[in-house]
Amino acid sequence: MLKRSDPQRPVLKTAAEIAAMRRAGQVVAEALRLARSMVQPGVTARQIDQAVEDLFRRRGALPLFKGYPGKVPFPAVTCISFNEQVVHGIPSDRPIRSGDLVKIDTACRLDGWCADAAICVPVGEVSPDIVRLVRVAEEALAIAIREIGRKAFWSEVAALMEQHVHAQGFSMVEKYVGHGIGRAMHEPPQVPNFTSRDMRRHDCRLQPGLVLAIEPMVNMGRKDVVELPDKWTVITRDRLPSAHVEHTVALTEQGPLVLTAD
Ligand code: MG
Repeated sequence: MLKRSDPQRPVLKTAAEIAAMRRAGQVVAEALRLARSMVQPGVTARQIDQAVEDLFRRRGALPLFKGYPGKVPFPAVTCISFNEQVVHGIPSDRPIRSGDLVKIDTACRLDGWCADAAICVPVGEVSPDIVRLVRVAEEALAIAIREIGRKAFWSEVAALMEQHVHAQGFSMVEKYVGHGIGRAMHEPPQVPNFTSRDMRRHDCRLQPGLVLAIEPMVNMGRKDVVELPDKWTVITRDRLPSAHVEHTVALTEQGPLVLTAD
């Protein structure tokens, strides 16, 4: 009898392929460094988006978000999400203000290989709770990067990320998950930032050659999110702030390697 192929089976990469993905990752890292430097009161998200688009063009990289299919094609090369916006914010002419929490997510393809990453930047004077929210999201990502080199299955990593977030009194968004990445931006397996019964049936063995876009989304309040009528922007249902950070990470014979490291 034919066994149904595992929908979670990853497309494993060779060392040479991972090196090529790292070159794409370095362009994403450069784009996010530029974006971070522009996050200042008075600057608009659209200006940041334009600067990233120009950088990708100069580097010969293809932006992967612009035109991404959804209910309407995504209109920009970055997702820029403010405060209670979780992910998929559309860059607009709203100026950045002191006290904002700005999340910038972008991805490109270079020489046939993709990379995807996101940063979370507090602007000026923000509340101590927001500082802690950002720190906990970054710690959850750091835990995942460290533990994929130690654990046998992704579910064990997800459990540690989730525990860290819950211990701080925050919640993990469950509607959106991390993903395999390679020649395509979204490949199997899906890598949720939380555990569930379903996940134990669709777990992923951690093995050399695996490349994942790991992206915890941490809410200050409840985990529930809603999509705005623009068909893209996702916000927290309780309108409390949310943090999102992401790296493209390869698991090599020598351990985890962050391909989008700054
Ligand atoms: Mg991603």
